[in-house]
Amino acid sequence: MTKGLALFSGGLDSILACKVIQAQGVEVQAIKFVSPFFDYDLLQNEGLYQQTIADKYGIKVDLVDVSDEYLKMLAEPAHGYGKNFNPCIDCKILFISKAKSLLNHYGASFLITGEVVGQRPMSQRKDTLRVIERDSSTDDILLRPLCSQSQNPTAIERQGIIKRDKLPRFSGRNRTPQIELAREFGITDFPTPAGGCVLTEELRAARIKRLFTFDPQFITPQNILFLLTGRVFLLPQGGWFTLGRAETENEAIEAMQQQGDSILRISNDRPGPLGLLRYAAHDSDFSLAATITAHYAKKIIPPPDVEISGAQTRTIQVESILLEEIEKHLWANIKGRK
Ligand code: SF4
Repeated sequence: MTKGLALFSGGLDSILACKVIQAQGVEVQAIKFVSPFFDYDLLQNEGLYQQTIADKYGIKVDLVDVSDEYLKMLAEPAHGYGKNFNPCIDCKILFISKAKSLLNHYGASFLITGEVVGQRPMSQRKDTLRVIERDSSTDDILLRPLCSQSQNPTAIERQGIIKRDKLPRFSGRNRTPQIELAREFGITDFPTPAGGCVLTEELRAARIKRLFTFDPQFITPQNILFLLTGRVFLLPQGGWFTLGRAETENEAIEAMQQQGDSILRISNDRPGPLGLLRYAAHDSDFSLAATITAHYAKKIIPPPDVEISGAQTRTIQVESILLEEIEKHLWANIKGRK
């Protein structure tokens, strides 16, 4: 039986792309790419995610971790960056090239995407869609079933296996036709359109951009998660420090601890922020991290002691510090130091 391999974002367009192909009696296997910039948390429970998508939409999906390839590409995307640090065109090329490399693994003969011509300014212009096909060498096997009639026919359409006249003709930013088609498939529960991944967000993208001025050994998925969680500081002797701003961030930060890291928390189990210190080799970075931690335990006066565990284990008595002193060390405010 003919099988298509779908690039699945989880958004409505990718759901519909799978559904319109299934409706023609063709089997669909979906893959969802993850990296520290998008959907990495799903790796913690892939089975639950697969079950949810199968139950809601009748789509089989696997997660594919593209972190390593993604980080290499992000250092120097051939087509450059968008408004922030988002390499949308190269990102699409990477996804489609990676999916192509998985065709044999899944026994699939063509690729499916939910792209709609004219929907996004950078990566879904008609000429850009052509560039994506060309640079991923997928001209004849990449079917965009939501707008295929504005594209050259692919092999699967020429063979008559997929009937292009039965496919929708979506274009542009109006989402009403997609919502109507979803209703025809009995789909009413779907995510609202997302603006893009964290690389499109000004502040968090800037943290990542700065990371790419460091030696490549520092550019790892674990460090990206570190930089994307909490209030992040670069300390004078090279230590990296992140501090939770809410209970959920405290938990996420604690879970990120790896060998050589230290956890900082307010002593005697008193409530307050939890911090994670990485790459700290000097006592002064430990002391400053403890002072910052105590500063943000705002309700406790005088500043409480801070317990350190991990690479060092001890309790530090801190003194009060001015906010402007602290802000000098925010990751975003440090210029030109590695
Ligand atoms: S928004 Fe992020 S995930 Fe989406 S195409 Fe752009 S870089 Fe890729």
